This record gives sequence, C-alpha cells and structure tokens, in this order.
Amino acid sequence: MSLRATLQKRLAQRRESGLYRQLKILDAAPTPGAVVDGLPMVTFSSNDYLGLATHPEVIAAQQEGARLGAGATASHLVNGHLRIHEELQEEIAAATGREAALVFSSGYAANMGTICALIGRGDSIVSDKLNHASLIDGARLSRADSLRFAHSDTAALERQLVRAPAAGGNTLVAVDGVYSMDGDCAPLAEVARLCRQYGAWLMVDEAHGFGVMGSDILPVGGSVAAAGLGEEEVPVLMGTLGKAAGNAGAFVAGSRELIDYLVQFARTYIYTTGMPPAVAAGALAAVRIMQRQPELRQRLGNNIAHFRRGAAERGLPLCDSTSAIQPLLLGAEQAVMTVAAELASRGFLVGAIRPPTVPAGTARLRITLSAAHSGAQIEALLDALATALAATVPGQTVADGVSP
Ligand SMILES: *Cc1c(COP(=O)(O)O)cnc(C)c1O
Repeated sequence: MSLRATLQKRLAQRRESGLYRQLKILDAAPTPGAVVDGLPMVTFSSNDYLGLATHPEVIAAQQEGARLGAGATASHLVNGHLRIHEELQEEIAAATGREAALVFSSGYAANMGTICALIGRGDSIVSDKLNHASLIDGARLSRADSLRFAHSDTAALERQLVRAPAAGGNTLVAVDGVYSMDGDCAPLAEVARLCRQYGAWLMVDEAHGFGVMGSDILPVGGSVAAAGLGEEEVPVLMGTLGKAAGNAGAFVAGSRELIDYLVQFARTYIYTTGMPPAVAAGALAAVRIMQRQPELRQRLGNNIAHFRRGAAERGLPLCDSTSAIQPLLLGAEQAVMTVAAELASRGFLVGAIRPPTVPAGTARLRITLSAAHSGAQIEALLDALATALAATVPGQTVADGVSP
C-alpha cells in the first residue's frame, strides 16, 4: 500500500476509536488568559505554575540573551557551549543543592540520554508504571532489563529490587517526583530507603516539582528537597525548564562526576545543537526569580487550596494531589470530552486526558493551577465545572459519576 493510503487508513482508525487529537492555536502563551482558536479563554492547562513564561523580567532576559546569537551554532562539545549555559548550570546546581548540573535541550532528551548513559545491557531499570513517556522510552532504548511496579507501591518496588540483580549488573530506579497526569508525589523517603538497602541508584524526574516545592534550605529544590533527601539518596536529579521555569530545556543535577560523565556519554547531549542563548538567559532569570520571590509559591499554594476547597464543597471528583496538577477523574472518555467542550464554551481551557496518555478507564480533566490565576478565575471555573458535570451525568450526583 502507498504511504499516503496507509496513513489515511490509520488516521481513520484513530478517528473511529475516538482518540483523534487536534491542535489548538493560541495567539500567545497564556497569562493565563489566552486567545484560543480565535476565542478568549482562561487556561487551566499550562505547566507555567509560577507565571514565569510571561514575566516581563524573564522576557527581557530572553531578549537580552538573543544578543549573544539567535542560536548556539553547534553542539555543546563543538562550539555551542556559551558562558550563559555555564551560569545557568551553576544557578541550577545551587538551587537544587547539588555539586553541578548539565542543561539539555528538552526533558525528553535529558531522560533518554541520562538513562542510556548510565545503564545498558546486563543492567536493570526499575520504573513506576505511571512514569513519564520519556523515562519509559529511555528504559526501552537502554536495553537494560526493564522491570516495572504498580504506581507508588513500594512493596511491589521491593519485589522488583529483589529480582533485578538477576541481570548481573547495576540497577537504576527511576520515578517521577510528582506524577504529571495525577499530581501525586512519589513516596520518595521509602523509595530512597529501598534503593539504599538494595544498592540501587535512584533517579527522580522533577519536571513538576522543581520551582514549585522544596525545603527551608532549598525552597525551589523540588519534591526531593521537600522529602528531606539529598544527593546521597537521590544521586540523579532531573528537572525541566519549560514548566515552572517558564522557558524550555531541562537539566540533570548531581555530583561533579555525574555531570562530567554525562558530557562524555549522554548521546542526546552530545549530538544535538546547544540550547539557544536566549533560552538559557530566560531560564537563568526565571530560576533566580523563583528563588528570590517566595510569594509566587505562596500564591500558587493559596490557589491550589482554593481550588481543592471549592471542588470538595461542590462534590467534584478530586484526586489525592497537593501539587499544582489537580485532575478530576471521570473515567469515561466521552464524559471527559463532553465536559471539556462544555467548559470551553464557557471560556475555560482544561486538559482532556485520555488513553493512551493514561490507562484505559481513567480518562480525566487535567486542571493545572498557577500563581497567576486570580481567585475570581478559580471560582468561575469551579462553578462551570459543577454545572458541566451535573449536565453530563444526568440523574446522578457528580460524585457518583466517578469511575473506580
Ligand atoms: C514534561 C515532562 C518531561 C519532558 O520535558 P520536556 O522538556 O517537555 O521535554 C519529562 N518528564 C516529565 C515528568 C514531564 O512532565
């Protein structure tokens, strides 16, 4: 069959299964207000948890950074590594309490490259079943023995840690610090304890923790810092710069040796053009602002509490999440699409998440909060949610509509 005919057939199957996905076009990044396909909306769907993507100081820093060149012009090891990259890495190392850090062009690349550099054939990788796609793909590409455990089930993790040495080599345990579609935190203290007991290396993906949570000493250090863990327990700390930091790219932070090693062996770092200087400058400004302005995290925390309180009062199917990611689990894909469309007609954009992004039967609205939301915007969303859910599941209270 011709390529075009093959693709048409597969696209038709995708449409028939109700899983066909469509791009929306925004005029600009959400503030959280945005013009989406020509219509004004308030977005509750971005990962810009602190509002830094549209922060004037961050944008000015990007504009200033662009004076260093629109592009890095080569890979980091050739001539694409600028002083601004070094400054960003030093700032990230300080913010995460690690000796050193390395910036990658994306979180996807950071996870794939790091996993494949650290382990290979004859080693094992043990992953939570709800890990981000980039960790899963890294595990596959590494050719290590891939073992998985039920979400946040530390007894199941321990069973895999008992099995893992059968491969003969080293064992890497990889988890999200905050799960991207559920918003819950990994049980990091227990995961770290098991890794120590079984001599496994622990890698934590802080895409949704960095900048949003931390400890007194490392206020933006992420869920690892919040759990009171340091480099000894979590030697491989990964985070992204396109979420709370509002820019693009990612980092791995750890010992000097880890960073030196990744420069030598992480293929997604070596064989790709260096991060554009403007992005490095914007990310540097953002990481500085997040550390200097604890009020941003305070405002985000207040908004999360506001949303959860209002959702509980209205009987909405909240999940067990204290992070900026607040999913409403509806179960049925059709219900999610109907409610999301109803919300859109009322001027609210929320994520409608269906399989294969999440397991079958767990379709959900993925609502994300930002420090930039106003109390009035949150209140209006809550009212719209209550109305839309009641209309979609007639004859039932909203809470009865939840799938197990
Ligand atoms: C978004 C995300 C990534 C990928 O980061 P990008 O910089 O967007 O490529 C990795 N891990 C998790 C948990 C994420 O949510």
